[in-house]
Amino acid sequence: MAKVFAYGRQNLSDADIGAVVATLKGDWLTQGPKVREFEVALEERFGARYAAAVANGTAALHLCGLALGWKPGDIVITSPYTFLASTNCIVYAGATPDFVDINRKSYTIDVALLKAKIWQLERSGKKVRAVIGVDFAGNPCDWPALRRLADEHGFQLVADACHAIGATMANDAGYAAKYADLVVMSFHPVKHITTGEGGAVLTMSREYHESVKLLRSHGMTKEESALKKHEGPWYYEMHELGYNYRITDIQCALGLSQLKQLGAFLERRRAIAKLYDKEFDGDDRLVTPKARQACEHAYHLYPLLVRFPLLRKSKEAFFASLAERGIILQVHYIPVHWQPYYQRRYGFRQGDFPVAEEVYSMEVSIPMHPGLTDDDVQFIAREIRKALE
Ligand SMILES: *Cc1c(COP(=O)(O)O)cnc(C)c1O
Repeated sequence: MAKVFAYGRQNLSDADIGAVVATLKGDWLTQGPKVREFEVALEERFGARYAAAVANGTAALHLCGLALGWKPGDIVITSPYTFLASTNCIVYAGATPDFVDINRKSYTIDVALLKAKIWQLERSGKKVRAVIGVDFAGNPCDWPALRRLADEHGFQLVADACHAIGATMANDAGYAAKYADLVVMSFHPVKHITTGEGGAVLTMSREYHESVKLLRSHGMTKEESALKKHEGPWYYEMHELGYNYRITDIQCALGLSQLKQLGAFLERRRAIAKLYDKEFDGDDRLVTPKARQACEHAYHLYPLLVRFPLLRKSKEAFFASLAERGIILQVHYIPVHWQPYYQRRYGFRQGDFPVAEEVYSMEVSIPMHPGLTDDDVQFIAREIRKALE
């Protein structure tokens, strides 16, 4: 049977499978030692003082909004060019979502436009409560500039790093926790490392970390120092309205084993990107993704922009002809402000964020995961060029 290439997929080793089986044979399926071991490994790998592993990336985003105290009336800004969850978490908190368009080169939030937006809001007596930066495809936002703005205008900063596990800024894989108040990761199977479903919140702040830990498990505590009174070894108290957003030991055993391979995964993703870059070099029908200066891209995605108007082919026809060759493309993303829910509830309209809309019209995510061989990559690139004819 011919090979089928998806835009992303997990990469599991015998060691991963062994780690999961060993946990299944042990005493703890959930709330055992693997959760904390995984958190410590994340803290070390990404230079964060604290990590809390949770059920998935969306839960991690929800907990960020709660830990940061977002409430109705608060304005929280993100990029329209992201997965729904980056915006939904604002709505979960009852705050008001708004967007600032992306930069044409980096596909991340445009800092100049963000400044303009903040001034416009401040002139009408409004304040931005928080900004969620999304390191789209694995390319870091301009975090130093975002931090300066956050300090000047007193807003909170969240890094949605779900695409950027292992990206670096000035050779530092821990840049996100340095610049943002909270950092969110996802371990969904298409991401750099997987736990099946899973996510994490990383931070330098003990206070935010304690809040995330409390809220991921019903807002309940058994810690003696935190209790209002103590009636015995069975005693617990609920201090906040929390959720069950816990992750299992089974998942964290997998996460620990996957994290050991992250370096190799990243190396392979970057080598694949280099091959694609070379294959598409000089083709003026295409725009290849570029890393921000002094940054290493993590290539969760390889977002290739195609100048469809120059071709006599629609995006749909392009998808169909590649699907015939077993190459299943995807598009990241339909701008969030185009979603019927956001239009109905907040009045966003097509045309509001033209750069995101233009990039969407051109973007195709071509296969990018460590399981691809050089031959696979060359085959895919050749078929893409053929489909452009
Ligand atoms: C994957 C992803 C999420 C959500 O993660 P889940 O673990 O699937 O809930 C959030 N934001 C971005 C940008 C993502 O890519």
